[in-house]
Amino acid sequence: MQRPPSAKVFVEGRYNKLSRDLPQTVFFCPDCKGHPRRRKGCARCEGFGKLTRDSVQELIGWVLGAAFKTRKNKFHGAGREDVNVRMLGTGRPFVMEMVAPKVFEVDLAAAEAEINRRNAGRLEVHGLHWTEKSRVRVVKEEKHAKEYRAAVKVERELEPAKVAALVGRRLQIIQHTPERVAHRRADLDRERWIEVLSIEKTGDLAYDVLLRTEHGTYVKEAVSGENGSTRPSLAELLGVPCECLELDVIAILDEGGARENEFGASVVVREPT
Ligand SMILES: [Zn+2]
Repeated sequence: MQRPPSAKVFVEGRYNKLSRDLPQTVFFCPDCKGHPRRRKGCARCEGFGKLTRDSVQELIGWVLGAAFKTRKNKFHGAGREDVNVRMLGTGRPFVMEMVAPKVFEVDLAAAEAEINRRNAGRLEVHGLHWTEKSRVRVVKEEKHAKEYRAAVKVERELEPAKVAALVGRRLQIIQHTPERVAHRRADLDRERWIEVLSIEKTGDLAYDVLLRTEHGTYVKEAVSGENGSTRPSLAELLGVPCECLELDVIAILDEGGARENEFGASVVVREPT
């Protein structure tokens, strides 16, 4: 098949991230930005240009890049999780844009199997299929509620009556932009809803909290309150200081919080032409 060298191909799928040390995209050094010349003398990354060895984008891109014979790609995720947050359940949708490939006939099922073989225990990809450029915007802009499992440390054991009053209700909360993202997000108050699905004791002063949250909720802050930046927080409603030690995304839902039909549009591989 002949295509111009500037062509792009788009591959869509979902990923599960099983480790807590993997960013979604290439984690360039903030000091030298990975610049080939400037990184040489960079103290922060010691010339590596990046702050982590790899990323979801690179683990997928290295395999697809070998198959398509190009090193250039762009990764478009349906949102992202923090580096130390696992992405479980049916996975997060993404589109990988392969730029200027030299090969166009690629066995995506074989590529998927190779990605999963090389990254067992860290990253899994499923449902890789050909898609169109128009999906990039849809995947990036669709709003999704999510379900999370939060491992929460508390200062005192929880009162059963307070737990019972909280579980199963949808709450409106106001979140001020958290400290940790204030450098890249506008400083303002956002209203979001959260639902506590269950609170289960897992040890001394330790609980697993299952939460459903609106698109764009800062979950760690919804748990702790971060010095009043989220009100009310779980800590405030439970009357006990709480800290979120670990977080897993366990489901990506539709905007209202319902389970999707295995991600609606992404199962339509190609419109008939
Ligand atoms: Zn650097």
